Amino acid sequence: MLRIEDALQIILDRTPLLGKEEIPLTEAVGRVLRHDAKSDLDLPPFDRARMDGYALRAADAATASESNPARLKDIGEAAAGRSFDGTVEPGEAVRIMTGAPVPAGADAVQQIEVINVTDGWIEIRKAVQPGQFITPRGIEARAGDVMVKTGERISPAVAAVLASFGYARLQVSRRPRIALLSTGTELVEVSEKPGASQIRNSNTYSLAGYAESAGAEVVSSGIVRDDFAATRDAIAAGLEAADAVILSGGVSMGDYDLVKPALVELGAEIFVEKVAMHPGKPTVFAKLGDKVIFGLPGNPVSVAVSFHLFARPALMQMQGAKDIHLPRFQAYAARPVKGAPPRRSHQPGRLTIRDGRAEVEPLKWSGSSDLVAFMKADCLIVVPEDRASVAEGELVEVISLNIKQ
Ligand code: AMP
Ligand code: MG
Repeated sequence: MLRIEDALQIILDRTPLLGKEEIPLTEAVGRVLRHDAKSDLDLPPFDRARMDGYALRAADAATASESNPARLKDIGEAAAGRSFDGTVEPGEAVRIMTGAPVPAGADAVQQIEVINVTDGWIEIRKAVQPGQFITPRGIEARAGDVMVKTGERISPAVAAVLASFGYARLQVSRRPRIALLSTGTELVEVSEKPGASQIRNSNTYSLAGYAESAGAEVVSSGIVRDDFAATRDAIAAGLEAADAVILSGGVSMGDYDLVKPALVELGAEIFVEKVAMHPGKPTVFAKLGDKVIFGLPGNPVSVAVSFHLFARPALMQMQGAKDIHLPRFQAYAARPVKGAPPRRSHQPGRLTIRDGRAEVEPLKWSGSSDLVAFMKADCLIVVPEDRASVAEGELVEVISLNIKQ
């Protein structure tokens, strides 16, 4: 049985990097950038007003007050997209709108709320500091700087940055193509009513969502009976169509667990068979040529945990992503949490902030088949392999399941 870290290293060492493709920015969110993106201009490109008011020389109103306002000549206007082309001389001011370039000569903006405007003149009723209400040119970005690095996953906020620097088209990783196979003679499709000793296939639907949230594209999915030839042929078809085949079920020690023998018959090399984790011990990783194969456990909670710990990082690495893991952080256990020595345990939990600190509540669940309880989880609580339990109030590690992209 491999340690989680060792299994992960074995998997990542054997996971290939996929090629690139060029796409428009409109399709870029969720994709991994494959080149550095540099700024082609300063941002802001000019000293920019942060308030509606007047641009002026601060020295002209340094001591202005309600009882002793500074009187200045109103010489024109600057609005967003329309600059004032003259120079502000001593004793002068220019009406300015938020977002407009601050005119030459001016070194501050005062807000309209503390200014009386009369015909051609203004009175400033509050002292002005040099630089106030101005966002200086280049403070957000300098022309030529690397703004987004290769390997960054493009979030909506990153897309806005790329837009600002003119990246209408980008080189990103091709999306990993995934074939999903749910093994099990007991499985029926979602539209069918299960007979005695049957259950509906649910893993296809969780796995498809998890794979897509990791940037992958599901190109085929289906149920395979626990039959050797059917399993072998379905895996072979998946390998034809996809970069990665992800199976669920059929990897434990039962008489009808046929995934490993089918992989061997196809000539795949199996690198991982069992991992010291709970749930998810029977996790298989194999390779055939450049194609990777994950044989995940059948139980719905196990399949999710195993996907998040192994398949997700592999899919992210295939895309050249820098950040391949789900976020981990620490929280206080709101109740005792059970462990599973000698395996490391991942208990479904819910996070809350109480009295300003992160607390995690282990969910009541009846075991690794309990997909109904798991639906409510927003994190996994990690209980170390040498701990039978974690006490209430102890700090524990949690893995966030709030998967955004
Ligand atoms: P297995 O690893 O094939 O022995 O499956 C373990 C458990 O998970 C069994 O109770 C299966 O019925 C269940 N299971 C396997 N595949 C699925 C699936 N696609 N959807 C829901 N449950 C499944
Ligand atoms: Mg099975």
